[in-house]
Amino acid sequence: MNQRFNAEKYREGILKRDRVMLAKAITLVESSLPSDQQIASDLINYLLPYTGNSVRIGITGVPGVGKSTFIEAFGKHVIAQGKRVAILTIDPSSQVTRGSILGDKTRMEELVRDRNAFIRPSSSGEKLGGVANNTRESILLCEAAGFDIIIVETVGVGQSETSVKNMVDFFLLLMLAGAGDELQGIKKGIVEMADALVITKADGDNERKASEAMAEYQQALHFGMQKSSDWSTKVLKCSALTNQGIDSVWQTILNYTEKTKTSGYFSTNREQQNIAWMADQFQFLLSNDFKKFETIQKLNTSLKEQVARLKLSPATAAIKLLNAYHEAIKSLK
Ligand code: GDP
Repeated sequence: MNQRFNAEKYREGILKRDRVMLAKAITLVESSLPSDQQIASDLINYLLPYTGNSVRIGITGVPGVGKSTFIEAFGKHVIAQGKRVAILTIDPSSQVTRGSILGDKTRMEELVRDRNAFIRPSSSGEKLGGVANNTRESILLCEAAGFDIIIVETVGVGQSETSVKNMVDFFLLLMLAGAGDELQGIKKGIVEMADALVITKADGDNERKASEAMAEYQQALHFGMQKSSDWSTKVLKCSALTNQGIDSVWQTILNYTEKTKTSGYFSTNREQQNIAWMADQFQFLLSNDFKKFETIQKLNTSLKEQVARLKLSPATAAIKLLNAYHEAIKSLK
C-alpha cells in the first residue's frame, strides 16, 4: 500500500513544488478509501487559496488525430515561453483500454523528461462522475504546485467531452483533414462547444487538404450560435512535426484569455463551473449512498419491472423509492 502523510505534509510538499509529493497527492484524491478521502478533502481546502492561477485547456479528438504529438509540441513551445505545463489525461473507458492506449506506445517522450512538465493519467474504471471529480481536484493540486498551464486531454471518445468542457477555460478540438465529422465520431454539439478547431498534420501532401478543411469549417461555423463567452470559434491548422502553426494556437489561447478576462467572462465561467461541480458531486454522492442499501436495490428492481409492465406509474414508483430511502436512513439512527 502507498505511504500516506497528513494533509499538512502534502501541502508543504506541493507548495514547494515537489513533483513526487504532487503525484502522491493525486493518488490520494483518486483513492476511494474513506480515510484517504478525509485527508484529500482537508488538503484541497488548505490549498484553495493557492489555486486558480492557470489557464486550463481541454484537448480532445479521435484516437490517431495526433493529440499526444500535438501536446508534446505545444507543451515544449509553451515551456520555452517560461511556463510550466501539467497534462492530465482522462479515459472514461475501462482500465484495460487505458492500459493499451497509454501503455503500448510511449506518449510525449520529451515532455515526460522535462522538469517543467508533469504528466498524469487519471485513474479510470470508475463512474464518470468520480473520474471528473478526481480530475478537477488534480487541476487544483497542479495549480497549487505552480503549474500555469493545465492541459486536460480526453483519451477516449464520447461522453467525457462535456465533462471536460465544464472544467476548463478553453476547449480545443483537434480534427483530421479530409475525414468527415461522422467519420471521426464527432458529434455536432462537440464542434459547437469548441473554442478552437485545429486541423492536425498540416504538412507535406496533407497541407492542401488541411487548408481546404479549414475553409470548410470556417464557413460552417459562420452560421453557428453566438457563445456566452462572446468568442467566435477559431479555425486553425498546425503540424506537430514541423511546428508550423503551433505558435498560432498558443496566441489564440492568449487572445482568448485576455479578451474573456477583460469582459469578466473568464471568472464568471469559473464560478459557474464550481457551482456545477458541487451539484454534480452531490448527485454522485447521493446516488452512491442510495446504492448502499440492499433492500432499496431489491425494491428498485421490482419497481422497474412493474413500471415496465405498466402496473405502476413511473412517478409513483419514484416516490416509493424516495420514501424507502428515507426509511432506510432513519433505520440507521
Ligand atoms: P493520438 O492517438 O490522438 O494521441 O495521436 P498520436 O499523437 O499518437 O498520433 C497518431 C499518428 O499521427 C502518429 O503516427 C503520429 O506520428 C502521426 N502524427 C501526429 N502528428 C502529426 C503531424 O503533425 N504530422 C504528421 N505527418 N503526422 C503526425
